[in-house]
Amino acid sequence: MNNEQRINEPISAWNAWKGRPFMIAGPCSAETEEQVMETALRIEKLDQVTVYRAGIWKPRTRPDAFEGVGSEGLKWLRRVKQETRLLVATEVANERHVYEALKYGIDLLWIGARTTVNPFTVQEICDALKGVDVMVMVKNPVNPDVELWTGAIERLARAGITRLGAIHRGFTSYEKIRYRNQPNWQIPIELRRDPSHIGGARAYLHEISQKALDLNYDGLMIETHRDPDNAWSDAAQQLTPDELHELMSRLILRNTRTDDKKLLDILGELRQQIDVYDEHLIDLMEKRMKVSETIGRYKKENNITILQSSRWEEILDRVVQNGTSKGLSREVVEAIFKAIHQESINHQMKVMNNGVVVAPGAVNGSEQKVVTIKKNGTTKKKAVLLKG
Ligand code: PEP
Ligand code: MN
Repeated sequence: MNNEQRINEPISAWNAWKGRPFMIAGPCSAETEEQVMETALRIEKLDQVTVYRAGIWKPRTRPDAFEGVGSEGLKWLRRVKQETRLLVATEVANERHVYEALKYGIDLLWIGARTTVNPFTVQEICDALKGVDVMVMVKNPVNPDVELWTGAIERLARAGITRLGAIHRGFTSYEKIRYRNQPNWQIPIELRRDPSHIGGARAYLHEISQKALDLNYDGLMIETHRDPDNAWSDAAQQLTPDELHELMSRLILRNTRTDDKKLLDILGELRQQIDVYDEHLIDLMEKRMKVSETIGRYKKENNITILQSSRWEEILDRVVQNGTSKGLSREVVEAIFKAIHQESINHQMKVMNNGVVVAPGAVNGSEQKVVTIKKNGTTKKKAVLLKG
């Protein structure tokens, strides 16, 4: 089998696979040899955990936070590997980390959210990994940029890594949200979820983990510590091994497919209904855009600006109230209507600019002008972004 075929193999074909969910558990940080060993021995008793994780080099947002024990901790992880049935994993953030981790026989390396954002560092890690057969997982970047995430995965694939996975740990959000990191559930390439870092607090771990399994993720990474309240990092979000056991016993594992003919018929009918509603939505959007264009023509004739923020705020208030009263979340209603509003603005701009489509997203805080381009004897108008 060549490398490309091996990359396309599902995680269930890996020799480490022990069934769904593929569980990675262990402390946020390795602190002392005793803490690493005691936590590992207690986690080993939970049959389903396959990989023991512990951060050795900790990327901390602010100085003076605990930055990890460094290479010394790799000896402790090696002990876990030798004295338990668990495989071991740690985060690597540069070439030196990779060499050190490989020297101590670490089975799985993960690239952290703050590293995935930097293609130089990711490439440095890939160069250090050339020709090595080790499991590698890539956490999403802190910012919701799917290209950076897939780019890092592609770099690793090119370096010859075949047992390659993605870990969704949520995205940093400037807005105040329920969780520490915004899950953005719709992002499609997620394979394995890190409920600890999405939630940021113990109380959310079960709901996030259940949602991940319902969305058919392969596994979970859950931070687990012998004494979470006194952990040197991420104290609020870690569980004890017993609590991890309790959480896992409450998780419902649904079937990923069914052969039940009657059920398939019912689902088929319901999916047809969904398709019809989706068509209605598109038709309605088309009608809405036509009205926007007519408004655009009036604005143009009367020399009025396109953006009228009080009108937009009024729309948003109304739809959020209406939507939430019908069981939709505020977050989703806002996201949908922001997108619809942007599309309306683009349509109005097109009317204002004599049929020239303005670059999407060019409206907020940017300037543009319409230039006339002559090419092969024909004249075309084009919007050019000046700033933004
Ligand atoms: C971690 O796993 O402890 C960690 C630092 O994660 P992230 O890169 O997701 O913040
Ligand atoms: Mn952590």
